[in-house]
Amino acid sequence: MSTPSTHTCPACGAGAVSVFHRQRGIPTNSCLLLDVEEAVAYPRGDMELGFCSACGFLTNVAFDPGLAEYSSRYEETQGYSRKFVEFATGLARHWVEKYDLAGGTAIEIGCGKGEFLEYLVEAGMARVVGIDPGLHPERLRPELADRIEARTEFYDERFGPLEADAVVCRHTLEHIPDVARFVRVIRDGIGDRLDTVVLFELPDVQRILDECAFWDVYYEHCSYFSAGSLARLFRACGFEVLHVERAYDDQYLLLEARPSTTPGAGEPLPLEDDLDLLAKGTQLFEERFDRTLAAWRERLGALEAAGGTAVIWGSGSKGVSFLTNLAMDDAVACAVDINPHRQGKAMIGTGHRIVGPDDLVEIRPDLVVAMNPIYLDEIRGDLARRGLSPELVAV
Ligand SMILES: [Zn+2]
Repeated sequence: MSTPSTHTCPACGAGAVSVFHRQRGIPTNSCLLLDVEEAVAYPRGDMELGFCSACGFLTNVAFDPGLAEYSSRYEETQGYSRKFVEFATGLARHWVEKYDLAGGTAIEIGCGKGEFLEYLVEAGMARVVGIDPGLHPERLRPELADRIEARTEFYDERFGPLEADAVVCRHTLEHIPDVARFVRVIRDGIGDRLDTVVLFELPDVQRILDECAFWDVYYEHCSYFSAGSLARLFRACGFEVLHVERAYDDQYLLLEARPSTTPGAGEPLPLEDDLDLLAKGTQLFEERFDRTLAAWRERLGALEAAGGTAVIWGSGSKGVSFLTNLAMDDAVACAVDINPHRQGKAMIGTGHRIVGPDDLVEIRPDLVVAMNPIYLDEIRGDLARRGLSPELVAV
């Protein structure tokens, strides 16, 4: 049986998805806390990244949901970074103010470890419900706990009506393969509560394509959106899109919407006119992929040959993708992470150990490669406080 040349789009339903990028045998998880043997032996899957020429959505057509594990040992939080906390607390305050949510209730779908639930409460919300199988209620701050309801489960239609002033969903939709079904379940859950505001945050694929950020492509992310494809999906699923913007140095998309009773309500925003840019981006990504990877191999290989020590900073999904693609186990000594829950564990795929910043005093790296440029200042400070001044670069 031959593989079809186009696939059906999970966002718009058109048979217009063509695969433009393939990677065989990448780790199917990058956030679980594992010891080295389990990390190296972790199951692998394929990435066949396809682009829908009808709506601009990108999807891994080879994604197998059976290989995903989201459980209490999934450790994805960025809540240990001051920069990330500043951004998220500011966003919570902004949304509460903009949509007059003080004193109201919110439901957060895919709330991870629940930091944003706390920020919403601190910003004035009376009650928040967090839904996530990886939520650890005991890690929530005790003084806020009476206003937070923790539901350690997956969100689906069995959850019932979403009775809230706001439905929040951050960094979750990109993990969902059947995106239109997911957004429709939310729309159905809201029902006729037409004043409920829906607030989404997720990575922007346009930047990934334009920068050939291969470390931002990994198995858990089976769905990739641009401003346009995200807004088109919401409109098609019964929402009026109020606002879309890029945030966090243009790494993330923020979408704000309200349920609508009119299909395709509202005029498209200027930012949504991006089909040509996306098509060009997919072409450039594939053209530059080998060259970008080769440049990193050369740089890290040269340092290793000269007897130097390199480490990466950031042991999450970007780090796993970077090291797996690099496939040079000895050229990087270890991965550094400020999240104490990840320290002492191993990088899935390659098995590199995960250390804390204090361990660098002994390791004395010559080169630190930050997995996200937005944290460079924070990392420079962490190094300086320990009397370290290695060369510091970002992917
Ligand atoms: Zn589509």
